[in-house]
Amino acid sequence: MPTRAVRRLTGSIALLLLAAIAAPAGAFASGTVKVVASLPNLGSIAREIGGDRLDLTVIASGVQDAHFVDPKPSYIVKLRAADLMIVNGLDLEIGWVPPLTQGARNARVIPGGPGYIDASAGIAVVEIPSGLSRAEGDVHPYGNPHYLGDPLNAVIVASTIADALKKADPAGAATYEERRKAFVTRLDQALFGAPLVELAGGAKLEREAAAGTLDHFLETSLGGAPLKTRLGGWLGKLAPYRGRPVLCYHKDASYFANRFGIVVIDYVEPKPGIQPSARHLEELTALLHHGDAKVILTRPYVEHRSTDLLAQKTGVTVVTLPLEVGGDPKATDYFALFDFVTGSLADALARTGTGAR
Ligand SMILES: [Zn+2]
Repeated sequence: MPTRAVRRLTGSIALLLLAAIAAPAGAFASGTVKVVASLPNLGSIAREIGGDRLDLTVIASGVQDAHFVDPKPSYIVKLRAADLMIVNGLDLEIGWVPPLTQGARNARVIPGGPGYIDASAGIAVVEIPSGLSRAEGDVHPYGNPHYLGDPLNAVIVASTIADALKKADPAGAATYEERRKAFVTRLDQALFGAPLVELAGGAKLEREAAAGTLDHFLETSLGGAPLKTRLGGWLGKLAPYRGRPVLCYHKDASYFANRFGIVVIDYVEPKPGIQPSARHLEELTALLHHGDAKVILTRPYVEHRSTDLLAQKTGVTVVTLPLEVGGDPKATDYFALFDFVTGSLADALARTGTGAR
């Protein structure tokens, strides 16, 4: 007859074995801080800041719709032991993160807990509705949650994550700060091009871009030619297509479009999360017939029936682009995601128009 202590120990071992078996395939090498990120872009930025000090698990894959992820129970096991849980926030994961955090019963990673990190803190959220509109099925009740479509928002998210890591793992604070700075430098160079960053400074360019005054600033000259002649990187790649109109499937490109000067004229979804009616598709067909948009931007995980129909009726080009790391095999991290997206979109816009402003 085993004693109560032995029974409890046996139970603990069984739980540990269960945890080991249930560990998802997406888990990475073991580190000091156990971090769970809801979405791949957040996971990629966390890895940039934390390096191999993190034992990182990412819940959703890049080919899943971030609004609608199946909360597998195996992630409850991961969350039970987690030091930090990083979420996108703005109710993007309302359908699937709360069941996981509630199931985990880990006070650190429930909303309000010290390890629950809402990455939307400090983000200038756009399209905030005047009233809560979820009753009508809108999945953006607190404004547009797809803020990582603007690489400059990744600078803010990187700071939020670095601060959380420094608190959770003070021994690594210097490492996190060093890696955060390196991430921002690399991001500035990727966004503006290294020569322009060298000339004007990344922080100055970030400030001008955030204030919406980058164009004006780039008209000024530093050492000869106007600065705009030195613009490279992702912004430089899409600069010839500034002002070009596109139709989007879901309202997930607003931050991206604002940053890169692309104009979204309408959406296949009449409201975020609502599939189009036949009548809405007819209206869009008329819009595409009479308007200038030659490209529809859609995502890997949404239905393609509507966009195929619109392409067939109007001859526009449908471009399926990832929104998250892993949404395309080439989008291996946050940098590769934007390399791929800006390159693919520039190609599509070049193929479908003159490229003139
Ligand atoms: Zn959305």
